[in-house]
Amino acid sequence: MKINYLMPTRIITGENCLYAERQFLSGLGKKALIVTGNNSAKISGAYDDAVKTLEANGQRHVLFDKVMANPTDACVYEAGLMARREGCDFILGCGGGSPMDAAKAVAVLALIDLSKEELFSAAFDRALPLAMIPTTSGTGSETTPYSILTDSTGSVDKTPMKRSVSSPLLFPRLAFLDAKYTIRLNRNTTINTAIDALSHAVEGMLCLRANHLSNMLAKEAITMIMDCMKDLLAFPAENPAAFPPEKREKLLLASSIAGMVIAQTGTAVPHSMGYLPTINWGTDHGRANGLFFKSFLSWCREKEQDSADKRIPALCSALGTEPEQFFDILELLLGPHEKATETELQAWSKLPMKNAANTYIKPEQKDIERIFRESLG
Ligand code: NAP
Ligand code: FE
Repeated sequence: MKINYLMPTRIITGENCLYAERQFLSGLGKKALIVTGNNSAKISGAYDDAVKTLEANGQRHVLFDKVMANPTDACVYEAGLMARREGCDFILGCGGGSPMDAAKAVAVLALIDLSKEELFSAAFDRALPLAMIPTTSGTGSETTPYSILTDSTGSVDKTPMKRSVSSPLLFPRLAFLDAKYTIRLNRNTTINTAIDALSHAVEGMLCLRANHLSNMLAKEAITMIMDCMKDLLAFPAENPAAFPPEKREKLLLASSIAGMVIAQTGTAVPHSMGYLPTINWGTDHGRANGLFFKSFLSWCREKEQDSADKRIPALCSALGTEPEQFFDILELLLGPHEKATETELQAWSKLPMKNAANTYIKPEQKDIERIFRESLG
């Protein structure tokens, strides 16, 4: 068995860990660009804690708070220029996956002039040091070497598309996991980000590059997330703060662990398929992946009957259920699926799915069409 494992991020967890362990941040530089979205870093308290911590360390900072969901190339170029103009020597990403992913691209663009294609092909050799404070518990961006951006003009037919920048230089140096920042996450964001984390762990087990270490991490992340399912199903929609804090903590750590999985394995075909509802309809990223799971996993189970590579039994053992029970839980979480038009189904089924080749049984175009139709038809 061959393993080549890299995970250079120091993960620090616990209430008030940013301030308590601020000496780790002090090693990153003299002036930070804090990269956030419009509101979440402020309403979650993460921004105030970051400022307090940087000040206690004698580090200066400036704020870029214009990151939108599914951040665009234009947004990261703007923030990169700001970091350069302000002489920032490290980047602090604070928020959900969108601000954290933006922060990673900014860490590169602050140092180097790059065309968009150079950025997406990772034609760079340095990046500013990065620290992350996640305020959602799903993407695991704090432990991955990926920055997922919306290329506003696309690469083929000028329509926007989600593309990834992948480089070991994008691994954050530090990830501070403090679940207190997630207590106000509403039902939809809590559930959709939990589904994203679950999809990373599940897809990680079904990727060609899965290995013993990534499977160990994936199984643990799946167990942790499945242990939160009852509470997710009974989410107190009128009062998100009543969701059990120990489950918030579990979901946050599980999402970082699931990030460590995809950092090794990449993702499988549902992630590529999920980008289409997100780009075209604005569907949340985690939900978009979840919509395909029932059909995708049923297809995998069917196909692997004729294959020596059987992975569904190990997955079911991690899930602690048979597939049908898991599908029931997932569908309860998701509610009714969005419906695609016949034109969308036909067009989307013909698009190349980048992660198909990384799936342990490679779906052909007809299989992808089947999964689109069963999930959104
Ligand atoms: P997000 O787009 O970062 O945030 C979704 C919404 O939640 C935003 O409105 C945000 O507000 C709000 N929010 C964030 N934290 C909050 C808090 N603590 N309390 C209340 N509201 C809060 O969503 P996400 O699901 O975390 O990230 C999705 C992005 O990550 C996608 O672009 C996806 O492609 C990417 N992704 C990356 C990786 C990776 O490995 N890098 C993996 C999976 C997904 P604000 O707008 O104010 O911030
Ligand atoms: Fe994801």
